[in-house]
Amino acid sequence: MENRKVCDVHVHLGRSAGINHTLHLDQIDSFIEKFGIEKMLLFPFELDTNESNKKIKDLAKTNNKVHALYWVQKKQIETDAKILNQSIGDGYEGVKFHGTFEELPISHDTYKPILEVLNDKEALLLVHTGRFKDGDISSNTSYLHAVNVAKKYPKINVILAHMGGNDTSIVKKALDASKDVKNIWFDTSGITTPFRIEMAVEKIGADRILFGSDAPWCSFRSIFYGVEDSLLDEKIKNQIFYENFIKLLKI
Ligand SMILES: [Zn+2]
Repeated sequence: MENRKVCDVHVHLGRSAGINHTLHLDQIDSFIEKFGIEKMLLFPFELDTNESNKKIKDLAKTNNKVHALYWVQKKQIETDAKILNQSIGDGYEGVKFHGTFEELPISHDTYKPILEVLNDKEALLLVHTGRFKDGDISSNTSYLHAVNVAKKYPKINVILAHMGGNDTSIVKKALDASKDVKNIWFDTSGITTPFRIEMAVEKIGADRILFGSDAPWCSFRSIFYGVEDSLLDEKIKNQIFYENFIKLLKI
């Protein structure tokens, strides 16, 4: 896209109950080629989750553009913790968490075994953070739960999807809460307002902002231009689209 090197930190494999857009294994190569993607983090949707988890791990071992996150589920926490213990560093880079489907926040005691593994292995945790209840702590998807986890487990790199809540005032609060918590990162998925990216750079600097599309839920191009059309200089855009991903994954 626009002759830019792009890494995407937020791509789903499979299908979701919410939309009829899909990204299946046999569509991955054309997805990568269509948008000129250098590297991406891939994880399941809420449907076919176990099957997709496995497919993604296998794909990551054979395709060096694909890095895998494992979608955890409270109904099988012990199994999930065991799988992660064995496979982080050998297939998975970490975990994707979605509090809406789990009906629990990531800070809940249920996830302690998972968070301990992630912290031990200095892995990634990408958390869906939404605008439900304006990001109040009573929402399972509040950015505050992810911030609390990042403070408690400083060796986990916590990525706040949708920049903490996909709403300008929530994004602002999430940035303020994360300014001094250096293991928190922000992904641009769902963000089509370039001002929010500019505000993020102003508040916490460009080092912890990652391009994420949330494809196929979101339009890759609309999210790409949400960043591209910002008033940021080329060096900073290159950090967000490419360099920060490489730094995060240590590749
Ligand atoms: Zn998503």
